[in-house]
Amino acid sequence: MITQFYLCPKCFEAADDPTPCPRCGGKRATCQPGAADNPVRKPPVTATGELKSRAPVWWLQAVGTLAAGN
Ligand SMILES: [Zn+2]
Repeated sequence: MITQFYLCPKCFEAADDPTPCPRCGGKRATCQPGAADNPVRKPPVTATGELKSRAPVWWLQAVGTLAAGN
C-alpha cells in the first residue's frame, strides 16, 4: 500500500522519490495519503458538514493550502 509519494503540483507527475519533475524541473510536493481508512483521504468539511474543498486533505497539505491538523 502506498502511504507516501511525491507529486509535481503543476504536471501531476508522480514518483516514489523526491526527485525533480522530469517535465518542468520543479520540486515535487510530498503527499501522505496514509492508509486506506485515513481521514486525510477525504475532502475537508466544516463543523456543519459543508465541503471546504473538493480535493482530499492530503493534497491540500502537500501543496500547503491547509495547515496540518485542520
Ligand atoms: Zn512538473
